[in-house]
Amino acid sequence: MAAGRPLGRIAKLGSSICRNQRLFLNRSPQRRGVASCVDPAHGLTEEQKEFQKVAFDFAANEMAPHMAEWDQKEMFPVETMRKAAQLGFGGIYVQPDVGGSGLSRLDTSVIFEALSTGCVSTTAYISIHNMCAWMIDTFGNTEQREKFCPQLCSMEKFASYCLTEPGSGSDAASLLTTAQLRGDHYILNGSKAFISGGGDTDVYVVMCRTGGKGAKGISCLVVEKGTPGLSFGKKEKKMGWNSQPTRAVIFEDCGVPVANRLGEEGQGFNIAMKGLNGGRINIAHASVQLARDHLLVRKQFGETLSNNQLKLAKRAHRWLRLPPGREAATGWGKPPERVSLSRPNLRHRSLNI
Ligand SMILES: Cc1cc2nc3c(=O)[nH]c(=O)nc-3n(C[C@H](O)[C@H](O)[C@H](O)COP(=O)(O)OP(=O)(O)OC[C@H]3O[C@@H](n4cnc5c(N)ncnc54)[C@H](O)[C@@H]3O)c2cc1C
Repeated sequence: MAAGRPLGRIAKLGSSICRNQRLFLNRSPQRRGVASCVDPAHGLTEEQKEFQKVAFDFAANEMAPHMAEWDQKEMFPVETMRKAAQLGFGGIYVQPDVGGSGLSRLDTSVIFEALSTGCVSTTAYISIHNMCAWMIDTFGNTEQREKFCPQLCSMEKFASYCLTEPGSGSDAASLLTTAQLRGDHYILNGSKAFISGGGDTDVYVVMCRTGGKGAKGISCLVVEKGTPGLSFGKKEKKMGWNSQPTRAVIFEDCGVPVANRLGEEGQGFNIAMKGLNGGRINIAHASVQLARDHLLVRKQFGETLSNNQLKLAKRAHRWLRLPPGREAATGWGKPPERVSLSRPNLRHRSLNI
């Protein structure tokens, strides 16, 4: 994919007002509830409004009509995602010299919020893919960036993020997958659980133990599909979120070149958390947008949920503070890799939402 500002590519998609913007605009001031009085474009620059509109259009035209089928038939919509990549959505916050769009975290969260209106599950996978591409772009050396990023940004290849294990979820620093150095290779043994895209993707960003216990013993390796010793579990059965396959990723004496290590030995946990901090902002945005839509159409007790008093109060609280990703990406004045999920957790825990 050609490098450079994505606006030109994005503008190709046309200028029709998206479903959600229409929803917002069509509601009269007298009848609208709290959710509908918040313009999704509020506070954005003209350029960000353009990104947002194109993402809304893509969601409405290319994703929403197929969302149910993707879910029911458990289809991973590779070609649709490649179309999204043509608009610059495959490496949104990856640097342009390796095919990325070079946008900010705020731009990214605005785009994911809009894409999620078409299919949350697919958007969540695209977010994970972007996170992996960003990790390689940010922590990889020149060779690694040039080898992996262009094909990830174009979504010719897809990526998975491999942190969780059967015995370590929230407590990720206790992971047990080992990588023992032998010559110019690491030998990986262990398994990862619940990996989005697992088995269908090409590039696995794997957190593994090269040192002692705890976070400082963890390193980050890029493992390519087809590497001997890499295999996958059966596709997990899920309730929803079926447009992204989820499988275990298994390493049995899997030899990975030392040249595929991102950063230094022992930096893996730090790299993993910095990646997740951005990914969580994107997921938070995707979730809020969908909830907002539901509140506007679902009627109980003769009112939409958005007009129900209790919901109204909660939504008012939330919208005063949200979108959380947008707040996180702007309000704290920190570089995105330093934004931590613990901050919004602390700020919102009193809301009981
Ligand atoms: C559909 C899907 C896709 C996924 N994709 C990926 C992926 O691509 N890559 C990847 O690495 N992982 C992935 N995961 C795994 C996911 O990140 C983990 O499920 C998550 O880290 C939680 O781990 P766990 O399920 O083992 O829950 P646990 O860690 O066992 O936690 C269970 C519950 O206890 C709570 N809890 C845990 N510790 C504490 C504490 N100290 N105080 C209070 N509460 C606590 C948790 O919040 C949670 O509600 C995916 C999971 C799902 C369901």
